[in-house]
Amino acid sequence: MNAPAHAFPRQQLEEALLRARSAPFYEGRLPRAEKLDRRSWERLPLTRKEDLRAAYPFGLLAVPQSQLSTYHESSGTSGHPISSYFTESDWEDILSRFLRNGVRLRREDMVLIKTPYALVTTAHQMHGAARSVGATIVPADNRSANMPYSRVLRLLHDLPVTVAWCMPTEALLWAYAARRAGRAPARDFPRLRTFLAAGEPLSAAKRAHIEALWGGKRVLIDYGSTETGSLAGECEQGRLHLWSDRLYFEVRDTQTGEFREEGAGSLVVTPLFREAMPLIRYDLEDVVEISHAPCECGRTLPTIRVLGRKTGVMNAGTRAFSALELEEAVHANAAETGLWFWRARVRDGALEAQIHVETQNEDAACRRILQAIEATVPGVRVRVAAVPAECFVPEALLSREVPMQKPRFLFGENEDWKSLDYA
Ligand code: AMP
Ligand code: MG
Ligand code: ZN
Repeated sequence: MNAPAHAFPRQQLEEALLRARSAPFYEGRLPRAEKLDRRSWERLPLTRKEDLRAAYPFGLLAVPQSQLSTYHESSGTSGHPISSYFTESDWEDILSRFLRNGVRLRREDMVLIKTPYALVTTAHQMHGAARSVGATIVPADNRSANMPYSRVLRLLHDLPVTVAWCMPTEALLWAYAARRAGRAPARDFPRLRTFLAAGEPLSAAKRAHIEALWGGKRVLIDYGSTETGSLAGECEQGRLHLWSDRLYFEVRDTQTGEFREEGAGSLVVTPLFREAMPLIRYDLEDVVEISHAPCECGRTLPTIRVLGRKTGVMNAGTRAFSALELEEAVHANAAETGLWFWRARVRDGALEAQIHVETQNEDAACRRILQAIEATVPGVRVRVAAVPAECFVPEALLSREVPMQKPRFLFGENEDWKSLDYA
């Protein structure tokens, strides 16, 4: 790990190939090169998501199953699971790199984990990392009937939570829910210092908006996936550093098909030390931009911008655009427009957007956001309409108080008896 961050890690890749060959999927798929260099490396086939789906559940298993520490599945939308598994030492690798981000998690911290625990890795990554530094964990979970927003806010307010691990959109939702519950996000949560956010792209404008809503608390980013664990973490200077001493990164130029170590394209990842589930040239299908320009924080690791999923790009007329580009436009000037939520869809070649704004002048807010979107997708017809908050945040989501209960079998005279859905 003394080599410059952008050197070709020949020996580590050779070792990764050796481990990979014990997995049924890679057996016979990875030709042995005389001498491994960039050119022979680039002739190796990519591993694609469809390969992982076809290899479900254990086609990539490269160690005896008894050595597995955890088994996970990706949140994938296709309906076909992608498995992911780790040994204890895989976890050590992941947790130690995850902890390098600018949050500088420490013993004194109390961490609210508000990402899912069910099958995906995200909550377990923070849980393991926080535990390893001796921080206090509040395992709140996400997408769980046990964790209505009222309960999240109570925890954030009543406990000295210093760090919240969540998706960026959650931080926005909590601010909204807090305001609705008569609390001021900027004042009433003084112990909270940082949101560590992951799971979705985040524009500079939305980040600034969230930070302002919370009275200047920082939002830092981790970038990773269930298949790989953390790939990059943000430093104090606001740049997302790739853990390139632990994984080998390539970008595939989607126009030319060429592979490079910087520039824009589709991200291809090879973990250097993964034991349980070696991945050789895994195409994550994320559109990214990698830079080797130095960062003021002093880390020599390259930096990345995550622009979104290859599949997330939409077209209207002749123009292609991503949610991130629209988000940048819509969230800009949120303090003036009073923006809370937005969504957009392509209809008959035009872009139809709905926004929820809190302002005296909805028409002015709509016009301003319309202009911002039009400037982002010139030539595309755009409509913007203001709609009630319930289009984005159903009332029940905010007002539900009661966590799920255990099953019951005996009921009192005035009680309704319940089914086994525990509600
Ligand atoms: P999952 O496999 O369900 O953990 O989701 C991983 C995917 O979420 C990545 O491949 C990215 O598309 C997206 N993702 C995770 N973190 C970020 C981030 N910080 N910025 C942008 N996209 C992210
Ligand atoms: Mg995934
Ligand atoms: Zn930096």
